[in-house]
Amino acid sequence: MQELVNKQRHFFNSNKTKDINFRIEQLKKLKKLLKENEQRMEEAIYADFSKSAFDNYSTEIALLYLEINDAVKKIKKWSSRKRVSTDLVNLPGRSYIMPEPLGVSLIIGAWNYPYQLSFAPAIAAIAAGNTVVLKPSELPANTSRLMAEIINSNFNPEFFRVVGGGVAETQQLLEQRFDKIFFTGSVPVGRIVYQAAAKHLTPVTLELGGKSPAFILDDKNLNMYVKRLVWAKFVNAGQTCIAPDYILVKRSLKDKFIQQLIAEIKKEQFSIENQNYVQIINEKNMKRLIGYINQDKVVYGGNYDMQTRIIEPTVMDEVSFDDAVMQEEIFGPILPVIPFDSLDEMIAEVKRREKPLSCYVFTQDKKLRNKIMHEVSFGGGCVNDAIMHISNNKLPFGGVGESGIGSYHGEYGFRTFSHYKSILDKPTWFEAGLKYFPHSKAKFNLMKKLLR
Ligand code: NAD
Repeated sequence: MQELVNKQRHFFNSNKTKDINFRIEQLKKLKKLLKENEQRMEEAIYADFSKSAFDNYSTEIALLYLEINDAVKKIKKWSSRKRVSTDLVNLPGRSYIMPEPLGVSLIIGAWNYPYQLSFAPAIAAIAAGNTVVLKPSELPANTSRLMAEIINSNFNPEFFRVVGGGVAETQQLLEQRFDKIFFTGSVPVGRIVYQAAAKHLTPVTLELGGKSPAFILDDKNLNMYVKRLVWAKFVNAGQTCIAPDYILVKRSLKDKFIQQLIAEIKKEQFSIENQNYVQIINEKNMKRLIGYINQDKVVYGGNYDMQTRIIEPTVMDEVSFDDAVMQEEIFGPILPVIPFDSLDEMIAEVKRREKPLSCYVFTQDKKLRNKIMHEVSFGGGCVNDAIMHISNNKLPFGGVGESGIGSYHGEYGFRTFSHYKSILDKPTWFEAGLKYFPHSKAKFNLMKKLLR
């Protein structure tokens, strides 16, 4: 690990990655490799948790192409120095801000969207001119092996290297000195990463999780609300960091809402055969999720199969904040519904908990929409939709509080892997004498007049 980091630092110091054309070439090469290996990537992710080619393309590969295309097109603009105005004291100088790459970056990926969560930060790191050590999650064994093969047999390891292995290897990596660590995963491991980074004062981006609420505040277009919600919750079998974790619905709308929710789930026919559902990643998560299902509250689904690691889309009604399912991020196909009478009380309940990664509001009432946007702190979200904000890369993607530190996607990814250097550039033909000795009364008065 140490040798790898040393070699990458040596390569970084050669200034090769500072060349914009080099970065563009590497990004184009990555895109070409992804294109060539699309079918193998589909097969690997299917072998890991039965994710279909359709879902793989729409929720992983397409986003990577978008990130690469955008970076290739805009990298020159993003990396150019920006002039800013110069204050009176420093005239006739010029001031500008100059992005520079941070250096050797470590990217640690989560398993649930293995390609997207490993490669999207890597694209941002490369676009910004860093070298990359990428450690994908070990849980989807086939996808992580394939990513290592694709990258390691095509890129110079001094520039871009995938490291295999599990927790032990990640910990060894974390002992090294990096210039940037970008982590996607759970809150407890996020803490471990943050502590390791503190030892070297390495800047971090932490893309974590949490319980993301969805508010249903009217039934003006309930059909559409439910259609969007159901897809967002059950795509990837709920194993999505920004999936609506639980529903807060006005009590008067609840019965109608649940009725439509069930009808929509039936209509979608989620199954591996229909290529719109996946397995739970492992037995440990199966057991954790099953522990959340309270059969007394189940109004739809609730069945599961340990052997095939499938849990039916499950809806639980009349859930309270004290129930087991409300104690942790669910990260699976279980949807608790909590009816409420007072929106203010519900907002207070949400705010008593850790700041969520996302929040969704379904209503046509602008006042209510604005109230929630204004009062609740969360990473990002949607009005009248769920999870789709991730697909617009003009929006920074990231959490706040316990749901994360920093953000990425599009230019925000470039910024995340850059340092913005401040430069004051002064000609030598003029210098105001104000700051120099002797400090006369007249000078003091002039300074006070100028700098009020
Ligand atoms: P995880 O924290 O268990 O693992 C993430 C990575 O950390 C893996 O690469 C793993 O090898 C490594 N790791 C695990 N234990 C470690 C340890 N003790 N020391 C060092 N490294 C360790 O998370 P996961 O199960 O892969 O993903 C689920 C979590 O990630 C959920 O909380 C979800 O919300 C979150 N997530 C967040 C985003 C986001 O973009 N904000 C995206 C996907 C997932």
